[in-house]
Amino acid sequence: MANPSQTPYGPRDAVADWLRANGIDPGDVPIEGPIAIKDDSIQYAALLRDEAGHVYADPATGDAACEQRTAPLTVQPPTNVQVPPYADWATDHYISYLAQTQSRPGPDAGDGTWWMERRTTGKGMVVCSCGYASGLASIDELPTPQSLEADHPGMTNVLDQVANPALIGDGAPLAP
Ligand SMILES: [Zn+2]
Repeated sequence: MANPSQTPYGPRDAVADWLRANGIDPGDVPIEGPIAIKDDSIQYAALLRDEAGHVYADPATGDAACEQRTAPLTVQPPTNVQVPPYADWATDHYISYLAQTQSRPGPDAGDGTWWMERRTTGKGMVVCSCGYASGLASIDELPTPQSLEADHPGMTNVLDQVANPALIGDGAPLAP
């Protein structure tokens, strides 16, 4: 079995010494982690063992079966061991700019079909999957993406009908 001298957190020996100093058996921790520091504790993946004491594969993933454990952080990592801060669940921000539109049945095409006509009203709104909504406002008074960034970190603009009117689409054909 491979026994690389480097881990994502630094030299294997240094990481093992640091884990041991905090009461964690490095043999229980997969070399790729994850290991993270949350306040004054260490959150780490620990290998699960069967009744014979052997690590085993998680049938769902094919990877070694692990559970998350926590140990008190009593010894800070040395400079050659870099452990990231624990990242908890964070809300995603999917932003959409919606244009207000109006539709009405267009003129008969002469063959028994007709198309909806659609137009924009010059108003619209911004919504975010985090729950934010600007409320209906004039298009040129809507908050810019730049101004939203601070309150919606890492935001993704999934739909922008204001900047891309083509996304509004033409009226759909109506059956006669
Ligand atoms: Zn948001």
